Amino acid sequence: MVSQSNGARTEIVEVARGVYARLHEGLTNAGIIVGDDGVLVIDSLRLPSFARDLRADVRKITDKPIRYVVDTHAHWDHAFGNEEFTDVTIVGHVNCRRELEELGEGWKQGVVARNIAWSEEMKTVRITPPTLTFDQRLELHFGGRRIDLVYLGRAHTSGDIFINLPDDGLLFTGDVAQDAGVPYMVDGYMADWIETDSRILDLPFDRFVSGHGPIGTRPAMEEARDFIAAFVTTAQAAHREGRPVPAGIEAVRVALEGRFGHWRGFAGLSAGVERVYREMTPKT
Ligand SMILES: [Zn+2]
Repeated sequence: MVSQSNGARTEIVEVARGVYARLHEGLTNAGIIVGDDGVLVIDSLRLPSFARDLRADVRKITDKPIRYVVDTHAHWDHAFGNEEFTDVTIVGHVNCRRELEELGEGWKQGVVARNIAWSEEMKTVRITPPTLTFDQRLELHFGGRRIDLVYLGRAHTSGDIFINLPDDGLLFTGDVAQDAGVPYMVDGYMADWIETDSRILDLPFDRFVSGHGPIGTRPAMEEARDFIAAFVTTAQAAHREGRPVPAGIEAVRVALEGRFGHWRGFAGLSAGVERVYREMTPKT
């Protein structure tokens, strides 16, 4: 099912029986899981209007009520549609809730100040944190299907979770890993990210739906893991050698270009290098 939403192509792909990836080109993806008597939605998207479009798409698939929204993490383009799900249990990691409470207002004001397409509507957003949180793992039995919500450590944020459907070999990864795309690293925990990535591959899956970009396969996840490991270790080495940030960025570009130069967002490596440098600078 292909349509247009907010000027960008939206495609809904049935990835397993009753499980859909809603891919929004250049924007943020969502997931839809239809159970026996209700629906679980993965990520509420960036604004109330985006969440309403998502709800309308759910209605095209089923008339069952939405019972759960799962926030993969706190970032505004994934969780600022939460307020449209007042009658629904919103599930997330404890750190996702904390980030929305402590940082959400700052992210909101940042988007307003940037004066971009969504700045006007952003002023109206009521940040709505998860109402059901967990620390390590939450197992849902939903419509005859097991859904494991798993925390594997800090990575893209402090509260990234993975939604694993073991019987379908499916994994929803939020923004920790993309198929051939550089993740947003501004809020990343770069050293921890390497460890977290190494644990993802212990989960039973052969395809993954990312928060951005196309559906990936297990080899693409191995690539995503290798990218973060190479990125972070190269930037750490540059820092240890006393190189300034621009030289660190160049070192990362040179080291990764051959294997990853064709990835989406490869031009934007600077924020991640700055993040690694900040992480390695002793706090005074
Ligand atoms: Zn994110």
